[in-house]
Amino acid sequence: MRTIAILGATGSIGGQALDILEKYPSDFRVAVLTAYGSAEKLFDAVRRFRPDAAGLVLEQPVPPDLADVAWFFGEDCSRRALLAARPDDALCAVTGIAGLDAVLTAARVCRRVLLANKEALVTGGRLVLEILKKSGSLLLPVDSEHSAIFQCLQGAGENRPRRLILTASGGALRDLPKEEIERAGPDQVLLHPTWRMGEKITVDCASMMNKGLEVIEAHYLFGMPSDKLDVLVHPQSLVHSMVEFEDGAVLAQLGVPDMRAAIGYAMGYPGRLPFGGERVDLARIGTLSFSAPDLTRFPCLGLAREALVAGEAHMVALNGANEAAVEAFLEGRIPFGGIHRTVRAVLDRTVQGRLDTPEAVYEADRIARQRAWSAMKA
Ligand code: MG
Repeated sequence: MRTIAILGATGSIGGQALDILEKYPSDFRVAVLTAYGSAEKLFDAVRRFRPDAAGLVLEQPVPPDLADVAWFFGEDCSRRALLAARPDDALCAVTGIAGLDAVLTAARVCRRVLLANKEALVTGGRLVLEILKKSGSLLLPVDSEHSAIFQCLQGAGENRPRRLILTASGGALRDLPKEEIERAGPDQVLLHPTWRMGEKITVDCASMMNKGLEVIEAHYLFGMPSDKLDVLVHPQSLVHSMVEFEDGAVLAQLGVPDMRAAIGYAMGYPGRLPFGGERVDLARIGTLSFSAPDLTRFPCLGLAREALVAGEAHMVALNGANEAAVEAFLEGRIPFGGIHRTVRAVLDRTVQGRLDTPEAVYEADRIARQRAWSAMKA
């Protein structure tokens, strides 16, 4: 029996994780549940799983029947709940740089960190890896592409990969001409063709910033430089990613687009947890197609690569500017094309540098957001 924390329990990944956990009551005990502001949803989950500790970023009165749980409120509720309950595993499924503090804490106190928050590695990748090195904890990817690469690397032995190939659905605007992409609004962008996810990541998929963030995530997870991290557009989302070895052999991991597969693999690793999802039927699908990404229509992927090469200050600036621009886009304040223009403007004002502490990361993030908002007003 392992104890597990679900941080971001009311989001898309958190909810799917709880559905899997409900199927394996003798393998896992939920020790911590935290959420941002969906109090009623979190209270329901706390009733279902009876964790030791629970947290909400936005404080709410706790119903009397849940008073025996240790409650934590505020920005650092995930950190304090982890320190109070010290679970074996933590699934970090908070969106954005807001999840960095929880990931750093989980890397210190938990034996396994199940990572569904790519922004934590984009903004604080080196800090996370340094803590893991000291604690000896295991980092298990939950992002489907990185889970696929991780699965392909099982049994690779001493053979280093020559290249990693991340696949991308292409997002909701994949086939539109550039002018239409630039003008697109939230209604169009939030219709993801294959995956069902939260709003922020769905916008990131449409701009291909998501794939850019994933290139950076893969750099930290697998220790690969930018020029060995390729991206292929694959509209069917069946091949979740691939690994090429020195002899030219390419290993791929396939599955239907269902996040429960990647969540369950990280939870059960090294075992596999069946969860009753659909199965791949290649005879029905018939054809798998692939193409190179179009950086003219989707400049965010190129911006992310540029930030990875430029270094830590640029990666934090990229992420902060993107988070601010996506927020503005969802509020209807800028058109879709405003996202890449904002990120471009903020990267142009960023000075190269290393960020050695979480405080330095947060300060760089704050400045990037400020610059993003002023670029959007201009
Ligand atoms: Mg992904």
